[in-house]
Amino acid sequence: MEIINRRQRIFSISRKFRRDDKKVGFVPTMGALHAGHLKLVEECRQRTDITIVSIFVNPTQFNDKADLEKYPRDLTQDAAMLAELGVDYIYAPDADEIYPEGFSTYVDVEGLTSRMEGAFRPGHFRGVATVVTILFNTIRPDIAFFGQKDAQQVAVIERLTRDLGFEMEIAVLPTVREPSGLAMSSRNERLSDADRKKAVVLFDALCAAERAFKGGEPNAASLAEIVKDTIKKEPAATLDYVSIVDRKTLQPIEKIGDSEVLIAAAIEIGGVRLIDNLILDNRQ
Ligand code: AMP
Repeated sequence: MEIINRRQRIFSISRKFRRDDKKVGFVPTMGALHAGHLKLVEECRQRTDITIVSIFVNPTQFNDKADLEKYPRDLTQDAAMLAELGVDYIYAPDADEIYPEGFSTYVDVEGLTSRMEGAFRPGHFRGVATVVTILFNTIRPDIAFFGQKDAQQVAVIERLTRDLGFEMEIAVLPTVREPSGLAMSSRNERLSDADRKKAVVLFDALCAAERAFKGGEPNAASLAEIVKDTIKKEPAATLDYVSIVDRKTLQPIEKIGDSEVLIAAAIEIGGVRLIDNLILDNRQ
């Protein structure tokens, strides 16, 4: 495994493999790797010939400077985990390699980014869409791997891939959870032990809504009430939003019919923001 910092070099390496008819897989991350990231890497290893993992804490997607500064970073430990999984290359650029002096070109995915996380984190998806576009353009993978945990991000990336004409597959893998049900996240490390136990209320609330849905309740407003009521039972948690939307367009749904619907929510607990979601599908 090789760690690469320069854009030009990872570009040349990836191009060489593509020319040799090797399938290039790409897993973008911000490091502080956990089992959720590793699942993406394992899938990438299975489905492609060359696995490239990027580790880049992208400053433009943090609307809160303190959040950026507090973001955990440990390249040595991350690299050890990735080497063990048989990763071929880590691309770990510095910020000025991605954003050279005078950088002024951004990618805005309209319509999908104003609600949910976008409403609470202004500019976040512009930063995500911009960095992912730069990384896609540099690496030009055959398949890029993302986690369903960040459902709005998945919708944004699927849209930009189509709209900008990137010829690649976007593979989306299910959310990996702790035994309690809490979705794995680098942010969980910032929770106290007590808050980490309480944070499972987010998953519990989504599961309660899913049970009601499976029991025959199709109305989004009623399902959202169930999430709100469950979160209220945990005084340490405050709900930022619960949204019931079409999985691809992220448009709000009133009554769940035949399309794939996302129930997504965010809470704050112990000063940490956590997100989670489930897919509700009548066809399952
Ligand atoms: P991040 O390092 O937070 O930017 O995440 C990098 C990738 O890992 C994104 O595609 C995330 O959606 C994915 N990811 C993060 N947490 C999980 C999880 N618990 N399960 C599955 N994928 C995840």
